[in-house]
Amino acid sequence: MAPVLYIVIPCYNEQEVLPETIKRLSAKLCEMIGSGLCSSESRMLFVDDGSKDSTWEIIIKAHSENEYVCGLKLSHNRGHQNALLAGLMSAKELCDCAVSMDADLQDDIGVLDEFVQKYIDGCDIVYGVRSNRKKDTFFKRFTAACFYKFMKLLGVEIINNHADYRLMSKRTLNTLSEYREVNLFLRGIVPLMGFKSDIVYYERDKRFAGESKYPLKKMISFAVDGITSFSVKPLKLISNVGIIISLLSVLGILYALISKIMGTAAPGWTATIASIWLVCGIIMFCLGVIGEYIGKIYIEVKARPKYTVEEFLKK
Ligand code: UDP
Ligand code: MG
Repeated sequence: MAPVLYIVIPCYNEQEVLPETIKRLSAKLCEMIGSGLCSSESRMLFVDDGSKDSTWEIIIKAHSENEYVCGLKLSHNRGHQNALLAGLMSAKELCDCAVSMDADLQDDIGVLDEFVQKYIDGCDIVYGVRSNRKKDTFFKRFTAACFYKFMKLLGVEIINNHADYRLMSKRTLNTLSEYREVNLFLRGIVPLMGFKSDIVYYERDKRFAGESKYPLKKMISFAVDGITSFSVKPLKLISNVGIIISLLSVLGILYALISKIMGTAAPGWTATIASIWLVCGIIMFCLGVIGEYIGKIYIEVKARPKYTVEEFLKK
């Protein structure tokens, strides 16, 4: 029997692009249902992540006109990852598999058939991977490459050039619901679950309309979150840096003693000040890294709910 597919789309202030996304995605879903690739119970689930524009009104209207459109409204803006999780967790009881994608038509909907075909062939997770990054700015390409390298270096299993365009089966969604962490970094969690997976390559377009909701500041904090949520290697790094500095300072003291004995000791003001600044800088940096983890523990310990559903429009 053809699987029930839910396409989960987090939306935050997406009024410019949403009508077009709904139009194109409905056409695609109808085509897939028509060809028997997925069941007629399949739906698109738009998650309104506390938008301040008319995103929710557009979803309500689409829901009343189009039987394939469902909507989920979060009471407050909780960020892309939480909105996505809210959608996936609401869809998991209703679907056999769910695909997550952005609202801005950057993810090529033409490859949805391939996702579902791979699911039918027995994959539990299908990752959408960008075939190239030609359309990105040099800065974005460079920082993304550094991020993936760094994550690999820290031993975090992460799929290169894969964002959140992916298919997950019902049992992967059930497993995901058992991950209790509050700092969500789905790209890191999903590969941790195991299960049979495959990759579908696609070309990522420019945003169809509207502005990116990921300015540089959010991008950096997302990357830091990814690193500190998955690796304690920075903590180990601190100890290593500490050992190296201690060794170096022993050499420095030896050097100072020898110069004293030889009678060549200069007043040494510059060297003293320089080393004070250097060491203070390093200590501050290390404290910062520790602080990052303590902050995480603090947030995890509170275990606040990750999202609150205000309204669920379903068929
Ligand atoms: N998004 C969200 N909540 C937020 C920020 C973004 O639900 O607080 C959604 C947004 O509507 C879009 C997706 O997450 O569907 C990815 O955001 P965007 O396209 O702005 O990021 P970019 O592609 O520029 O990295
Ligand atoms: Mg985008």
